[in-house]
Amino acid sequence: LSAEEQAVVERIEQENIDFLRLQFTDILGTVKNVSIPASQAEKAFQKGIYFDGSSIEGFVRIQESDMRLDPDPETFAVLPWRRKDDGGAARLICDVVDTETGEPFSGDPRHVLQRAIDRAAEMGFTLNAGPEPEFFIFAKDEGTATTQPHDTGGYFDLGPKDLASDMRREMIYALEEMNFEVESSHHEVADGQHEISFKYADALATADNIATFRSVVRAVAEMHDVHATFMPKPIARINGSGMHTHLSLFTEDGVNAFYDSDDEFNLSETAYHFLAGILEHAPAITAIANPTVNSYKRLVPGYEAPVYVAWSDVNRSALVRKPAARTPASSRIELRSPDPTANPYLALAVMLQAGLDGIDRGLEAPDPVRENIYEFDEDKREEYGIETLPGSLGEAIDALEADDVVLDALGEHVAGKFTEAKRKEFAEYKTAVSAWETDRYLEKF
Ligand code: ADP
Ligand code: MG
Ligand code: MG
Ligand code: MG
Ligand code: MG
Repeated sequence: LSAEEQAVVERIEQENIDFLRLQFTDILGTVKNVSIPASQAEKAFQKGIYFDGSSIEGFVRIQESDMRLDPDPETFAVLPWRRKDDGGAARLICDVVDTETGEPFSGDPRHVLQRAIDRAAEMGFTLNAGPEPEFFIFAKDEGTATTQPHDTGGYFDLGPKDLASDMRREMIYALEEMNFEVESSHHEVADGQHEISFKYADALATADNIATFRSVVRAVAEMHDVHATFMPKPIARINGSGMHTHLSLFTEDGVNAFYDSDDEFNLSETAYHFLAGILEHAPAITAIANPTVNSYKRLVPGYEAPVYVAWSDVNRSALVRKPAARTPASSRIELRSPDPTANPYLALAVMLQAGLDGIDRGLEAPDPVRENIYEFDEDKREEYGIETLPGSLGEAIDALEADDVVLDALGEHVAGKFTEAKRKEFAEYKTAVSAWETDRYLEKF
C-alpha cells in the first residue's frame, strides 16, 4: 500500500468505520455506490473491486461489462450522518478501469476530466475552480416533494424569515466534516432558495466536491422532512438555480497565470485567450453545463441568468463576468451559465479544454460589454457581434455535435452516449403535453 492508502486504512480503524461506500458517477452525473465491509479496504486498494458495468447508465455493452473500481485514497471522507457509535460509514471516490485492457475506462467522467487536467499540466497549468451551487428547499406533502417554498425569505435575509438558516448551518457542519472549506452561505433571491459556496480547489477535487455537495444537501434536508432540489427552474417567472463557476489557471509554482497588474482588468494574456476559448465554444459547452430540458427555462432574459455570449467586468447579464479581485491569487473569470444538474466532471473538462484551445490558438477576446445586454435588440447585438446561447436542449446538442474541440474533450464514448441519451430525452419532452398547454387551450378550443 502507498503511504496515503495506509493512512486511510488506519483512519478506518480509528474512526470505527464498518462500511466503505465506493463511489463513481455515470455519464449523466448520477452518483453510484458499491458498499464493501471496511475489512476489505486493503484488498480494494491492492486489487480494486470488480463490478458489472452493463447495468450502469451509458457505461458499456453487455458483452464487455467487467469493470474495476480503483479507490482514490485522497477522497476518503467519513459520512457525518452515519456516526460511529453503531458503526460508521465512509466513502471513497473511485476511478473506473476497463479490465480487458487495464486502461482507464473511456466512459468514466472522472477520466474525461483527468485527460483535460493532464493536457493543462503539459502546458504548465493547473485549473482552479470554485462553484456556487444554488438550490431550493421545498415542503413535502405526505412524503412527496412539492414546489411549496419552505420559507419566504429573500436575498441575504436573516432569521426568523430565513427559516432554513438552521438547516443550512447543519449542511455546512456536515460539509466541513467532509473536508469542505465553506466560504459563504446565504438566502438567495427567491423564496426557499439558498446558496452555499465553498473554496476553490483543483478541478478534480472540485468536481468530487460538487458531487458530494449535492448528496450532503439532500441528505440533511431529508432529515428535516423537506426536499432540497437542484432542478434549475422549479418555478416559472422567479429566479432559477445556477452553479456559477469561477475559473483560473495557476502555474506549477502556484502563481496565478490569470493575473497581470498592468492590465485594466488585471487579466493576463493567458486569461484573455482562455476567456476567448470559452466564448468560442460556449454553445457546445451549454449541452454539458445545462443538460436538462428544464435548464433552458432558466437561461432566459431577466433573471440574472446568461443568454448572450459576451463578457463583462460590471454586469451580470453577460455569460462571463470578471469579478473584482482583491489579491493576485483571486484574479479569475466567472462562467455564469452552468447549473447544478450538470455532471461536474464533464462540465469542468469541457470548460478547461475550451479555454486551453483558446490559449493554443491564441484566440483574441472581444471587448467587455458594460451595458445591460437583456435590453439590446437584435440589431444592437449584431453590431456588437453578440451570439445567443442555445435556446433548448435540442439546439444545444446540435451545437455540441458541430464542435470538434468539445466532442474531443468528451471522447468518442462519452460524446456518443451523452448525445444519444439527451436526444431521446428531448424527443420525449417534445411529444409530452404540459399543464401550460391544457390550461391555455383545453377550454378555449
Ligand atoms: P459571487 O461574487 O459571484 O457571488 P462567491 O463569492 O459566491 O461569488 O464565490 C466565489 C468563488 O470563487 C468561491 O468558490 C471562491 O473560492 C472562488 N475563487 C476565488 N479565487 C479563485 C481563483 N483564483 N480561481 C478559481 N476560483 C476562485
Ligand atoms: Mg490503487
Ligand atoms: Mg455567490
Ligand atoms: Mg447566487
Ligand atoms: Mg456568482
